[in-house]
Amino acid sequence: MPKFDIKKIVAWLSQILRCPVCGQRYNLDKTRVIEGEDKTTIGGSLLVHTDCDKCKSSVMFSIAIDGPEIFTIATVTDLTSQDTMKFKDQEPITMDEVLATHEFLRTFDGDFKEALK
Ligand SMILES: [Zn+2]
Repeated sequence: MPKFDIKKIVAWLSQILRCPVCGQRYNLDKTRVIEGEDKTTIGGSLLVHTDCDKCKSSVMFSIAIDGPEIFTIATVTDLTSQDTMKFKDQEPITMDEVLATHEFLRTFDGDFKEALK
């Protein structure tokens, strides 16, 4: 398998990828590889988080590298890069958790001090 330099790939991507909200080019300093940074051979996928300097929106890019072809999917998110690191390996929320939250909120009186004890 050919080797590649992940930093060069991310630098190149930050030049070609544009914010889907405002069209601004990304600042490399605010682009962070969340998953796949340890990859040294071509093939596989990366998860990259970046913040837009202009409109301040955050976007996660799922990037699949298959030989000379690179595919990207952008998702606008309200997660910071730290949030993304924290939640990336957690289990999805279950239906029961959603229903329990719905039941809780139905009778919630707005007293967060009491609810968060
Ligand atoms: Zn933007």
